This record gives sequence, C-alpha cells and structure tokens, in this order.
Amino acid sequence: GAETASSGPISDDFAARLHGRLIRPQDPDYEPTRALWNGMIDRRPALVARCRGDDDVVASVNFARDNGLPLAVRGGGHGVAGQAVCDGGLVVDLSEMTDTDIDPDGLTGRAQGGCTLADLDRATQRYGLAAPMGVVSATGIAGLTLSGGMGWLRRKYGLSCDNLVSASVVTADGRLLTASENENEDLFWAIRGGGGNFGVVTSFDYRLHPVGPRVFLCNVYYPLERAAEVLRACERYVAEVPEEAAPLAVVGRIPRAEAFPAAVHGEPFVALLAVSPGAGGAAAEEGERALRPLREVTEPLCDLSEVTGYTEAQQFLDEDYPDGRLYYWKSVNAPELSDKLIERLTEHAAAAPSPDSTIDVWYQGGAMARVGEQETAFANRDVPYLFGIEGNWDREGDSERNVAWVRDTFADLRHFSTGGVYLNFPGFLEEGEQLLREGYGGNYERLSAVKAKYDPGNLFRLNANIQPTQG
Ligand code: FAD
Repeated sequence: GAETASSGPISDDFAARLHGRLIRPQDPDYEPTRALWNGMIDRRPALVARCRGDDDVVASVNFARDNGLPLAVRGGGHGVAGQAVCDGGLVVDLSEMTDTDIDPDGLTGRAQGGCTLADLDRATQRYGLAAPMGVVSATGIAGLTLSGGMGWLRRKYGLSCDNLVSASVVTADGRLLTASENENEDLFWAIRGGGGNFGVVTSFDYRLHPVGPRVFLCNVYYPLERAAEVLRACERYVAEVPEEAAPLAVVGRIPRAEAFPAAVHGEPFVALLAVSPGAGGAAAEEGERALRPLREVTEPLCDLSEVTGYTEAQQFLDEDYPDGRLYYWKSVNAPELSDKLIERLTEHAAAAPSPDSTIDVWYQGGAMARVGEQETAFANRDVPYLFGIEGNWDREGDSERNVAWVRDTFADLRHFSTGGVYLNFPGFLEEGEQLLREGYGGNYERLSAVKAKYDPGNLFRLNANIQPTQG
C-alpha cells in the first residue's frame, strides 16, 4: 500500500533503479520540488521521481501501478488546477527532461516532455523556425499541447496539437509506444486534445514553420470605456485579414510598472495584443503594416507596440505571471460578441477585487477551425470566441473574494455561451463531469473507448479525467 511503498526498502530499491533522483519528504529539496506555479496548490506527495529519461518514466509508472499509488505527472508545472502534484502517491517529474533536437531541413523538431515553451522556442529560433505554442514562455509544452495549445500563431498554423506529428508515450502497462498517423493511430488521435489521460508523453515531435526571427508585436492599450468599439474593430479586422494575426484582447487595469507611463497607471483598459506570424528579412515591416489597424481604433492610453525578436515576443507577458502567486481561472466559449455580452464583460472586469485580474478574449478561427471536429480529440473548434477569466492576486486573505469574482463572472458569461470550455484553463477541477464533457464535446465517447484500451484501470486520473468505457 501507499504507506509502505513510499518509505523503507521498497522505495530504496526503486530509488536505486532510477537514473534520476527520488525525492522524499525528508529530503532538503522536497519543499521547492512539490511547489507549483500556482501558489494556491499545497499538496504533499510521498515520492517525486525526477526522471532522467524514458527508462525512468517506465520504472515510475510500473512502480506506482504495482504499489497502488496515486500517480501525478508534472510537465512544466503550470497547470492551473495544480494536478501535477498529489497528496501521498508518486509524482513523475519531467522537469529535467528538456532536450531538443531540431531538423531544419525536414521542418520538424523533437522536444522532451519537460520542456517549457522557452526551451523549445530557443532551439527552433536558431533556425528561424517555430512550433505554435502559448503566450507565456514558462508554461510546459506537455500540458499545453495535450489539451490543445493556443498562441500567436493559432490562426495561421493551428493549435500546438495540430502540429504534433508524433509522440513517445509510456502507457499504464509500462510500454513505451510511438503515437503517429501510422502507429497507434487511436492513441495519436486521443492525445491531441485528450490531455494526460492516456500515458506519460516523454517526447513530442512537431511540424515547424518559418517565423521571425524579427516580428512585429502589437501591444496597444485603449480606455475601457471604448471597449465595444475596440472589440468590434478587432472582430472586423479578423474577418477581413483572416490569417495574418491571432489577436488577444485583454480587459484589465494598467499595472504600476515601469514599462507603462506613470500617467496611466491604474487606468482600466482594453488591450489588443498580437504578433505578426511572418518570416524573413522584411517580416517585421510587413507585420507592422498588417497589424496597424489594431493600433488605430481610437486614441490609446498607451501603445507599446514594437519590432522585436520572436523569442522576446513569446516572453513579454511572462512577468505578469510569477511563480507562487495565487491564481484561479475559468473559461467560456461564445458564439458571438453581442452588445450585452461586451457590457457584462466590462462591468465584471471593472468589479474585479484584484487590479491584476483580467478577462481575456481569444479571437479564434483560421487554421485551428479548418481542422475537422473529429479529426483530433480537441473539440469546439469552430467557436469564434473564447473568454478566459483570470483571477490573479497576492494575499491569502483575499482568496475568497477573488475566487468568488471568477465564479460569478463565469456563471454570468455562461448565459452568452452555447456551451464548451477550454480544458487548459480550469481553476480547480470542481467543474465536474458536466463541464469536462462540454470541453471534450462530441469526442467524449470515442475518447472513453481509447481510454479503456490504453488505461482501463484509470491509472492516469489526476487530469481532466475521461472515464474508460466499461466492458
Ligand atoms: P503541468 O501542471 O505540469 O501539467 C498539467 C497536466 O497535464 C498534468 O496534471 C497532467 O495531467 C498533464 N501532463 C503534463 N505533462 C504531461 C506529460 N508529459 N504526459 C502526460 N500528461 C502530462 N494555454 C494555452 O493554450 N495558451 C496560452 O497562451 C496559455 N498561457 C498560459 C499562461 C500561464 C501563465 C499558465 C499558467 C497557463 C497558460 N495556459 C495556456 C494553459 C496551459 O496550457 C495549461 O496550464 C497547461 O496544463 C500547462 O502545462 P504544464 O506542462 O506546464 O503543466
């Protein structure tokens, strides 16, 4: 059982078989090891296997299964719900598995499961290439890709999971499988949207695209009272310039940070953010021209747009999301940006108890919507808008009202939704079965059958869990 397996001779034997370290509660590194990005999460695993390679992952999965231990899988540790650690049980920690191998001629790149976006971007940009990823560079490629992956390139090149060509997966029975169009196709289908339900992915092979190395970053802040005009202008822009950019509108308050002119500190804003997806010498100038309409909607509070490196553009939001702060997020899909919805959105944003909380509007469509609804496990592809409700705050005493703000905002914005959530943005997984099923949409039944084939005992259950089909 859990007690005996986690201490004494059984775990000593396991430790001796690992190439990496086995970290236990008495270890001086235990505290930083169990900490996650989200400071709300406080769980105490019995064992953390800091894996060095595929063999260690196989040994860890076998050990957890044979000893009946709860099993958590840690990629980049940025899962908002904090399921990368568990109470008791074993954490398969991939944070030291960060190798990359880029094939610039074949336009593919392999990255181990512990890579952050920064690790992969650094490797691919050496060749002027990129895989579509998210917008904060400390995020893990693993969790991000397995449940979709939306960033600045999503409308031109699709989601992260759409650019996956192959993956190595350690399944519940301890086998190391390749999942691709030609091998274990059902598994390959399922891991493109089905999250961590099917095994530990030890490496990802992506299709790469020429991007940068210089890009144009649109980073403009308008007064919140112009929200309707700004969001509508962005809507028209996206309709007219279909794949040029994938804008993200953010509603919040200007941080008291040096990057912003002191005169606008604390002002409520609606920002339009985008990165030009072009490549080559003239890419940044072309990007400046292409993104200009987003910067000319009305008089801005400030405009920090600039020519910059793609890697820098991938990092400009990093400082808004430091490790250990308190976070609680939810998401809502919406079929249209009605006047009423924009009105409610601005009211909720203005009422946020923390000045660092935001409501984000992801303009979707383009390449991510051209992939068929059943082609991968990622569902709700044709929804044009995704709202991210981000509660971000500092003091534990403020947790209750910040969590309440996210929940109230979510409940209200749901009235404007025809259903569906993004499974990479859940607060705690208290959403329950109903919302998980909405997240998986029409793909749930098939996912459940693939789950029954590869993980009938539901060993991988600390995730947006899919129940294996019975019998
Ligand atoms: P972890 O906490 O390590 O993992 C999350 C879950 O994924 C685990 O509980 C496990 O179930 C599973 N998992 C992790 N690694 C593996 C593996 N190797 N094999 C199998 N299962 C695994 N999403 C976007 O789409 N676009 C964004 O721009 C974006 N920005 C974000 C910014 C921040 C600051 C944060 C915190 C999140 C952001 N997200 C974004 C959401 C992000 O995609 C998820 O939080 C994702 O789960 C992070 O993956 P991770 O590997 O860092 O997390």
